Amino acid sequence: MRAVETLQSFFEGSGLEGVVVEPHPGRASLIVRIEGTDPSAPSLALVGHTDVVPVEAAGWERDPFAGEIVDGWLWGRGAIDMLDLTASYAVVMRALATGGAGGAAGAFRPRGDLIFAAVADEEAGSGLGVDWLTKNRLDLIDADCVLTESGGAPTGAKPSISVMIGEKGLAGRVLRVTGRPGHGSAPYGARNAAVIAAEAVTRIAAFRAPTVISPLWRQFVDALAADGVTHGRLVDPLHFFEGLPGVGALAGYAHASTHTTISPNILQAGEKENVIPGSGRIVLDIRILPDVRPADVEGYLREALGDLMEDIVIEGDQFGESTVSPTDTPLYGALQNAVRRVYPGGELLPMLGVGGSDGRFYRRRGVPAYGFGLLSERWDYGTFRQLFHGNNERIDLESLELTVSALDHVVREFHG
Ligand SMILES: [Zn+2]
Repeated sequence: MRAVETLQSFFEGSGLEGVVVEPHPGRASLIVRIEGTDPSAPSLALVGHTDVVPVEAAGWERDPFAGEIVDGWLWGRGAIDMLDLTASYAVVMRALATGGAGGAAGAFRPRGDLIFAAVADEEAGSGLGVDWLTKNRLDLIDADCVLTESGGAPTGAKPSISVMIGEKGLAGRVLRVTGRPGHGSAPYGARNAAVIAAEAVTRIAAFRAPTVISPLWRQFVDALAADGVTHGRLVDPLHFFEGLPGVGALAGYAHASTHTTISPNILQAGEKENVIPGSGRIVLDIRILPDVRPADVEGYLREALGDLMEDIVIEGDQFGESTVSPTDTPLYGALQNAVRRVYPGGELLPMLGVGGSDGRFYRRRGVPAYGFGLLSERWDYGTFRQLFHGNNERIDLESLELTVSALDHVVREFHG
């Protein structure tokens, strides 16, 4: 709600009012619309979340919530995820409505509707944000095309500008571990659920799901301009892991882009120091590649756990498919043109996001959604990923200017 009020006061005097929804006290979203002149023209939504993830303040060199600007950098949680974009959308909307910035000739009337949705809850699964809006107020946020997080980092020499055209899917599971309770003073031969769970976690961590070299991944490796040996390994399922040390900070992304990943993130067993636990619980964060089915997930877990399955039951049926948008759309063309104005010869680099974004709620309904922004030459995709949810999150002011200018261009080209 604080973010909504901040945006409302920013829009004051611009004629933009918007609608506020608050499905849960304090968890509000603001949706602002500029109506198009042609009801049959396609509409465009700029969807930015207003929430951020927590910080571990001890790891920061500056106050993560002060929004300090130091030597041309704006510091703070959310600087690149994704308050930079949400704020840029707001700036573009206001400029279009009032004729400020690029619109010296007066207010801009788009051909189709232009929607700005500043939404809650993305970092918490979107249940009180875009998921709720999709189920209850689709009329407010629906559009024919969508821009959202993330993207915009120059990569490679040409350069290539990352644009998220899709994201992996979710298929989290819980493992219930059964042992036999007993007295902690005589552990020999016990069936300790904590010991079984620890072994299960170790096996899952060591498990390798199949390496999938997709056309999107090949394109990313080409753009990296790595040395020939590393390049060859990164597109070869048999030697992929040998190529990972060659990509430095991008190793985690490289692995997640080419594999369904299973991360054991919560492990619980035991309540009292002198009782051998009879039960345990392991929560798995599972992110699936396109075309992976629930039966595949079950198969991976059975293969990883082997004979431990005698003491383990797999629970849960979460299944959100991976979603990918086509790139042969007018909006994608407008993104490409916006990039070339800043980076002559620059190409868009379509990528599969390995985390989640609000884009999936649109893609599932067949609406193309791209993660787009435009960062300065100070950035590369590895640095971007390190700061995303990391310590010392920040953005240079030049990148904010580039992003606002690119978005302004995109809207004018798409809706002009
Ligand atoms: Zn985000």
